Amino acid sequence: MDIISVMDDTLSNKIAAGEVVERPASIVKELVENAIDAESTIIEIALEEAGLTSIRVTDNGKGMSRNDATLAFERHATSKISNEHDLFRIRTLGFRGEALASIASVSKVRLWTSDGETEGTEVHIDGGAVIKESNAAFRKGTDISVNQLFYNTPARLKYMKSMQTELGHTIDLVNRLALSHPTIAFKLSHYGQTILQTSGNGDQQRVLNDIYGVAVAKKMVPFSGENADFKVDGFVTLPEMTRASKNYMTLVVNGRWVKSYTANQAVLDGLHTYLPIGRYPISIVNVETDPFLTDVNVHPAKQHIRMSKESELFTLLRSAVHEAIKRAIIIPDAIKHK
Ligand code: ADP
Ligand code: MG
Repeated sequence: MDIISVMDDTLSNKIAAGEVVERPASIVKELVENAIDAESTIIEIALEEAGLTSIRVTDNGKGMSRNDATLAFERHATSKISNEHDLFRIRTLGFRGEALASIASVSKVRLWTSDGETEGTEVHIDGGAVIKESNAAFRKGTDISVNQLFYNTPARLKYMKSMQTELGHTIDLVNRLALSHPTIAFKLSHYGQTILQTSGNGDQQRVLNDIYGVAVAKKMVPFSGENADFKVDGFVTLPEMTRASKNYMTLVVNGRWVKSYTANQAVLDGLHTYLPIGRYPISIVNVETDPFLTDVNVHPAKQHIRMSKESELFTLLRSAVHEAIKRAIIIPDAIKHK
């Protein structure tokens, strides 16, 4: 007796959503990354009930045509890669074509978008089913709201932590995205109250200031270094300005915020004897490298990457940090670079 059948899209999207849509912060990540990929210069994120009731992301990016606006919600639909070759040369944050399909399967989505060439489009999708698709006047860009998250997956909803915890995850995420993209003006608000606002003027130290405050930003030492495969630069706090966890160390590889034990360790080694035991710096490390040397296709959430020549990067980063800190400690004026 034949008992196997291929599951329908709604069901498979819901299963895929389990991997990428863990909590409100994961949705904010996917929506903001889409806005960044669309070359936006202004991105606003507005939340209600820490995102559980509503997450709205507005951008001034390239927008979508009428056809693309509905196709975007199909699984494996993407404008970012089209063949295997592209998979090894990824420059965009997205490429899996899964996020919108997954998000739409566990929430109620309202989308307004326009590519600036034709009239805009409005799309409503509830639990993966398109319930409205029409022309709508809209400026160039995209405005997407994700409402009533997990309304049709009660088990997931129950798993959500307190509003404060969920909001904390989203604030942390937006901080890192703003740090990774200092040329984009970000605004994050909760019930209309501004939590973070950056200018988008391209100055990463200014973003550090916006996030961690002027006292921290003042204690940050710039570093940079280069070898055949990597260019690194960033800022690290002097040993007198430390934290009790590694949560304030940020790594950005080709514009993507990722987590890496090796890179954190290189920064810590660079500070070695200067750092009190159990204390960690606040740092931002930017790495530029040929995308061919990295593999971001490790997990659907794209928070980890595999890197060839990781030990070369480690050595470069450690010595760049070490030299900069040594100089700043010997000649304190060296950090008054701005
Ligand atoms: P991916 O980002 O991996 O391509 P998504 O499901 O996140 O997959 O998005 C599908 C497609 O929808 C994207 O490839 C892009 O073409 C389009 N899209 C999504 N969000 C935006 C946006 N804010 N502005 C313009 N296009 C967008
Ligand atoms: Mg995406």
